[in-house]
Amino acid sequence: MKLILLGAPGAGKGTVAKLLTKMDGSVQISTGDILRAAVAAGTELGKQAQAAMKAGDLVSDDLIMGIMGERLKEDDCKNGYLLDGFPRTIPQAEALKVLLADMGEKLDAVVSIEVPRDVILDRLTTRRTCEGCGEIYNVKSNPPKEEGKCDKCGGNVVQREDETEEAISNRLEVYNEMTAPLAGFYEKEGSLLAVEATSSDVVIDAIKKKLAI
Ligand code: AMP
Repeated sequence: MKLILLGAPGAGKGTVAKLLTKMDGSVQISTGDILRAAVAAGTELGKQAQAAMKAGDLVSDDLIMGIMGERLKEDDCKNGYLLDGFPRTIPQAEALKVLLADMGEKLDAVVSIEVPRDVILDRLTTRRTCEGCGEIYNVKSNPPKEEGKCDKCGGNVVQREDETEEAISNRLEVYNEMTAPLAGFYEKEGSLLAVEATSSDVVIDAIKKKLAI
């Protein structure tokens, strides 16, 4: 399947994407993960993205479209893809439209996961992430078996630099201003599936129903 997953930081896009990849071999493409890997590796891309990411601001549309223009043409996208954290601005959505048309591809749906702000805030402040493989934990509901160590790869489980209270509040503001309007953009195109849910199972069921799978 080919989906865009929209939703505020902490809405559960990554969790839903990971569950969907197991259903039909489609790949999760998270621009945030790609950028974090670039920062960790100290590449030119990482250097260009680092300051904006740390503050919870958006990286430039040009940089993001450069990444996605390449990424969507890779072989593993043949079975479909779940776009997690992209597009995040109207210009990115417009550029994606052109990119997909050039590639002769069409999305199955754009899923907007809608979660109340208090739940989002609680999730983001208690979220922890493995530096090695990106596995997500939560100090309250899903801590790693050994504190600070990833169950899957043994990497360090840490609080992301952009998950301080200040950066979180900026990320949510940026989301409301720059990304939330995308729901209206895709609604006009007739491809929006809005799901109000704090449970990933409910989101998955709504997607299955919409795609008749
Ligand atoms: P995420 O893991 O999706 O929350 O992304 C982490 C950070 O990476 C964001 O706060 C932005 O600084 C940057 N980022 C990720 N995806 C995008 C995008 N599509 N457009 C601009 N910046 C992005």
